Amino acid sequence: MEKQLICSLSDDLKQLKKLPEISIVVPIYNEEETLIKLVKNIANYLVNYSSYEIICVDDGSQDGTTEILKRLAKERHDLIGIILRRNYGQTPAMAAGFEYAKGQIIVTLDGDLQNDPADIPQLIAKLNEGYDLVSGWRKNRQDDTLTRLLPSKIANWIIAKVTGVNLHDYGCSLKAYRAELIADMNLYGELHRFLPALAYIEGARIAEIPVGHHPRRYGKSKYGLGRTFRVIMDLLTVFFIKKFLTRPMHVFGSFGLGSILLGILLGAYLTYLKLGLGESIGQRPLLILAVLLVLTGVQLLSFGLLAELVMRTYHESQKRPIYRVREIIGKTLNRE
Ligand code: UDP
Ligand code: MG
Repeated sequence: MEKQLICSLSDDLKQLKKLPEISIVVPIYNEEETLIKLVKNIANYLVNYSSYEIICVDDGSQDGTTEILKRLAKERHDLIGIILRRNYGQTPAMAAGFEYAKGQIIVTLDGDLQNDPADIPQLIAKLNEGYDLVSGWRKNRQDDTLTRLLPSKIANWIIAKVTGVNLHDYGCSLKAYRAELIADMNLYGELHRFLPALAYIEGARIAEIPVGHHPRRYGKSKYGLGRTFRVIMDLLTVFFIKKFLTRPMHVFGSFGLGSILLGILLGAYLTYLKLGLGESIGQRPLLILAVLLVLTGVQLLSFGLLAELVMRTYHESQKRPIYRVREIIGKTLNRE
């Protein structure tokens, strides 16, 4: 029995030794021109750490990315390629990387060399000062002013106000996390950028440091103005999650009750006019208002009840995966 315990302990230790200290997660969609250089660059800045793994998630690329990644992952011992079945989007691709990451520290960055892998050691150093999440701040962001910088400035300001986490640059993909922080996060939509806000709700200590940023020299951006709209919708979702998600009935229900109450008061006033003072009330706009208020109130109450049911289903269905893996190439450590 004792021997068994010692054996299993030493097995655990062996497994622990095999686990990398750092996992780098890169979502990649049609980045055939940068992939080789990117992996080389990242590896260059990680040689001083005891162990690391680079996880490239191919998000359904249609160019030569998949072939290059497969070849690289076979050649390199430090690279794992995860090939998704189709294009799911940056957030699901990152979620796939998180799922397979084994490091105690997880660093994310873009695959187009706009983020500079040279900043990775600084992020990790800051994290080791006692933070759970360190976010990059592209102080000299090299993107188009009108379509990218301006919308993102406005979005950052709104996000900071709504979530209470004051970061300058939510959209920066270059971020470092303690692995346990993202272990339980359920990501979907464009939510990866809100990880700091979601983490803050969970009590994470968050820091932001300036990082470099380069213009996109190869390929082109996968996004246009449409993303700002989706981001704002997701922001509303985060806000909703934070404030209302647990008890929607309390939100809609109180508006509903208020509305009914106001309607009844107006109704009482009109009844008094009719019965007490003998006035005609048939032509009064107030009558329509009173009826509307009562009806709207009843609808809001029912809506609250329905929302409560939907939320329950939502919570229970959180386990549903938001991506499917086609193939994994390279060593995945200790994966059952
Ligand atoms: N990306 C992805 N799936 C997508 C769109 C983008 O994996 O559907 C990756 C892309 O390859 C890049 C990162 O997400 O590594 C950021 O994309 P992009 O550089 O186009 O965004 P931008 O820098 O313009 O915000
Ligand atoms: Mg980019």
